[in-house]
This record gives sequence, structure tokens and C-alpha cells, in this order.
Amino acid sequence: MKILVINAGSSSLKYQLYDMTNEAVLAKGLVERIGIEGSVLTHRPEGKDKHIVKTPMPDHKVAISLVLDSLSDPSVGVIQSPDEITAVGHRIVHGGEKYSKSVLLSKELIQELDEVSKLAPLHNPPALIGIHACQELMPKTPMTAVFDTSFHQTMEPSAYMYALPYELYESDKIRRYGFHGTSHKYVSQRAAELLIRNIEDMKIVTCHLGNGSSVTGVKYGKAIDTSMGFTPLAGLIMGTRTGDMDPAIVTYLMAEKGWDAKAVDNLMNKKSGVLGISGVSSDFRDLEKAASEGHKRSQLALDMFYYRVRKYIGAYAAAMGGLDAIVFTAGLGENSPEAREEILKGLEFFGFEVDQEKDACRGKEVVFSTEGSKVKLLVVPTNEELMIARDTKELVQAEA
Ligand code: ADP
Repeated sequence: MKILVINAGSSSLKYQLYDMTNEAVLAKGLVERIGIEGSVLTHRPEGKDKHIVKTPMPDHKVAISLVLDSLSDPSVGVIQSPDEITAVGHRIVHGGEKYSKSVLLSKELIQELDEVSKLAPLHNPPALIGIHACQELMPKTPMTAVFDTSFHQTMEPSAYMYALPYELYESDKIRRYGFHGTSHKYVSQRAAELLIRNIEDMKIVTCHLGNGSSVTGVKYGKAIDTSMGFTPLAGLIMGTRTGDMDPAIVTYLMAEKGWDAKAVDNLMNKKSGVLGISGVSSDFRDLEKAASEGHKRSQLALDMFYYRVRKYIGAYAAAMGGLDAIVFTAGLGENSPEAREEILKGLEFFGFEVDQEKDACRGKEVVFSTEGSKVKLLVVPTNEELMIARDTKELVQAEA
């Protein structure tokens, strides 16, 4: 069974084709600048040289059509025809309250997804455009939707409600949803496997630390709380996002500076975070370098980031009534031993010890706590695409 995973953004599109008999990636790639001058497709077939296509791609349909051409091309392809693709799994950011699981798409469901889109106006519409384009090009191929919010739907109301008038939850569905769910689910399950333990007996904190970052408490395999909220702006300090702050700052800025909602939204999402504090970069590599050269605001940005992650780990350990493992994933979590070490400083009272030699690794699965550690520390590179492919396989098999 071959499954194509599509992650469509407004002007970009990532894809991976899996052979699900052994979960091998046959090819993957990225289309950039869809609808903008300079469209480019970078196709990476397994075991062959990468192939670059530079041609105008006015919309997602043209882009996906070129992806299918590359996948089935006699020289750079990995299949003979797109008919070999059993199903397509689409990543969708927001599933609202309705989707606590991945779903097989039907016409009605796609219409319902359009309705959920108002909760994620930046992220859901491009994914839906991707779905429509795929359906036009592969009308007989089953499609699924896998949501970033689903894994967090196990939270209790006490964790997901905001203390606003209850009517706003009823009328506008304002509540915590949480994001990066596919990643938190994958790394928590993988951590239990690596420790040869049953996830249903474990209390795990998963830290997805990339450009966007979030922490989740996973108790007995289920998310009980997560740091992102109604939108991905909440929780940790991020590359360019504020994370948690006093909401009165918003009304202060609007009243004192005369800024409108759009201006404040732009400030909080695009100009804040470690970029806003350091004035240098949103990229943690740049910040680590600048801080090591004595740049004080870069060091401050890093210290604020580490401190916030540390607080969330402590909070979720308290919420779960204990802690068995802390898992690090995504760009920074997987690749920066310095960041892991700084975050964990002061948390040793939980009962762990870092094995410095094992912690020195980058981008590999590793248990980096010492043998005797009561609480285990792990790096698990995330693999959201594989989770989407697995869910898609399961849904298609269940339907057959
Ligand atoms: P996204 O949220 O865009 O998917 P990623 O998970 O790819 O983000 O993470 C990107 C972040 O990870 C960047 O800030 C980058 O600096 C950081 N990162 C990647 N590699 C390293 C590294 N070797 N050391 C420190 N930070 C790293």
C-alpha cells in the first residue's frame, strides 16, 4: 500500500510518499512559491539524485499535478503511475471540537471543514485548497484529514476552558484547542516504545521546541493539558510569537498607541518572541551564537525561553501527579544539547541525571538520562508525516 502525505501551506506544499508494507519513504519533496513568481519544486526520490523543477505554478492544482508527474516520472520517479497511490493523507491544522480523530473525507466532511476554517483562517484554507486540488486530479483515490488538534481533545473542561463568560464558549467555541498534536502523540508513543514500557502506565511531558513550540502533559497515553490555546500564539515564547502574556497588554496597546486588532495581532505573532527580545533573529542557532559572543539581549531571550519551558514541565508534572519521562523534539529540542541542559537545570529534584555523553547527540533517538534515573530523559525526532500515513492506512483498511 502506497500513501501520499500532503502538508499544504498558503504558498508551499510538502509531500512524502510511503510504502506502508515497511513504512519506507519512497520520495519526499517541497514546492515553494505557489502563486508567486519563482515557483520551484524540489523532489527527493530515495536512492536517486534530487530533481528540481522551476516552472510557473499559479495554484495548488498545478503544483500537485507536477508532484504527481515527478513521482511517476520514468527517470526521477518512484512509481509507474499515480494510480499506484492507494490513498492521500492531508495534514489539517484545526479540527475544532468536532474531530478528535483522523477522518476519511467525504463531500459533506469537506464542507464541514470549511466551517471549522474560521477558527484557523491562516492555516486551514490552504489545506482545503490542497484537498480540492488532489480530488480533482485523483478523483477515485480515498483522502483523509489528520488534525493537529485531535490528540488534545482528551483534555478535561477544567484544562481547556477559559474564564470568559460561558456563552462565548457556546457561541464562538472559544476554548483551548492545542496544536502540534500529531507530534506530541508520535513522540510520547515512541518514548514508551524506546523505554519498553506501556504508555498506559506513564506520565510523560513532551516538549516540541522548534520555531513554533509547545509542551503537552501526556498521562496514560492521553493529552491532559497543552501550552498552545485557542490559537498557536499561547504558551511558550516562540521564534516570533509572544506566548503567554497578560491580555490587558492588548487593550493597553490599542488604547495608548491607537493600534487596531490587525496591528496588535501582527506584533504578537510576527515581531515578538525571541526575535523581539533579542532584536537579532528568530532562529535559535543565531541566538546561541550571538549569546556566546556576549550579546546580552540574545542571552536574555534564551533565558526567558528556557525558563518558560521549565515552568510548563513543572506545571504538567503537578497536573499529572508525577512524572516518568521528559521528551524533547523538533528543530531545537532534537538538535541543541545546550538548550536541553539549560531547560532541565533546577529540575533535578524530579529524580533524573543527565548522561552528558548521550546528551551530546543531535537529531537522533536517544535516552539521555543515566541508567539509575527515576525520571527518563529522551530525544525523539518527530515524524508527523509517518503518523499521518499510519492513520490514513488504518482508515482506508477499516473502510475496505
Ligand atoms: P518549525 O516550527 O518551523 O517546523 P523546526 O522544528 O524546523 O521549526 O525548528 C526550527 C528551529 O530549530 C529554528 O529556530 C532553528 O534554529 C532550531 N534549530 C535547528 N537546528 C538547530 C541546532 N543544531 N541548534 C540549535 N537550534 C537548532
